Amino acid sequence: MSGFEYVRADDLDSAVALVSGDPGAAYLAGGTTQLDLVLKDRVVHPSRLVDIGRLPLRGTTLDGDRLRVGALTAMEELAADPVLAARLPFVREALLAGASTQLRNMATIGGNLLQRTRCRYFRDPDVPACNKRAPGSGCAAVTGAARMHAILGASANCVALHASDLCVPLTALDAQVHVQGVDGRRVVPLTRFYVLPGDRPDVENVLAHGEVVTHVDLPLLPAGTASGYLKVRDRASYEFALTSAAAALLVVDGTVERARVALGGVGTVPWRAVEAEAVLVGAPASVETFRAAAEAAIHDPFTVPGTEFKVELAKRTVVRVLSTVSGVRS
Ligand code: SF4
Repeated sequence: MSGFEYVRADDLDSAVALVSGDPGAAYLAGGTTQLDLVLKDRVVHPSRLVDIGRLPLRGTTLDGDRLRVGALTAMEELAADPVLAARLPFVREALLAGASTQLRNMATIGGNLLQRTRCRYFRDPDVPACNKRAPGSGCAAVTGAARMHAILGASANCVALHASDLCVPLTALDAQVHVQGVDGRRVVPLTRFYVLPGDRPDVENVLAHGEVVTHVDLPLLPAGTASGYLKVRDRASYEFALTSAAAALLVVDGTVERARVALGGVGTVPWRAVEAEAVLVGAPASVETFRAAAEAAIHDPFTVPGTEFKVELAKRTVVRVLSTVSGVRS
């Protein structure tokens, strides 16, 4: 293992300067992903880790119709927030569906957004073909064991899944990500935060080197909106999603007036299903409508041997979450 410098930042400005000034530097917060990649898997080799874990970027603030969440808020801490439980219940469900209690007490919200893929080939330094780790080297996953990989936004260049549960309802909500870099602050909608792999799977988001996530704004659901998160997985806890779906519906007199739908377990990025939302809005809240929305949500999938089953499973996941949220059953 190559060595790295460890630095604990005293404030945000010095943290940004420490990372921005060194092309090999990276941030360290809860450490649940970063330390795996650096110390266990040994596939990431920073020259410097800048520990921001003690900076005052923790906690929630209710600001009008949004909940502002500090990037260093722990997942378990956010799940216990009473405003989140009352006004964003599907976010709470997604938080509690992820990882384990121990990990959720360490893992931060900012780190969750920036987590790296669980692709086993990415995390194995003995596998040479990984375009995400070594651009231009190929992709071992497309001909390997691919059960946990993506079918939306994928290509022969990379089928790596974005495995976050939390990001699925956050994508449905249009959460806003606040970042700070040497050139100042900016706000990026979560729906434009991630980059499809294309021919550069190593580029995963729009952050410039040195930019850090400071907080995330979650718009509260309008009154009367019901929401839910459904995660389908091989075992009931401590397992990543095969498929998942988050939905928020406002149904008035049997008609869907407002719909937000996002998918997990299937996309190279957290997947907003705008086509499904278009089918839902103005339509009767019925299982037939939900099936049409599911068909619209999963269009042009890219499958490899081992991921074909996800196409139908994802559609059924969408129908199920919409049925549960609306209370409409076949
Ligand atoms: Fe690498 Fe992506 Fe292929 Fe996994 S799926 S081996 S991360 S290029």
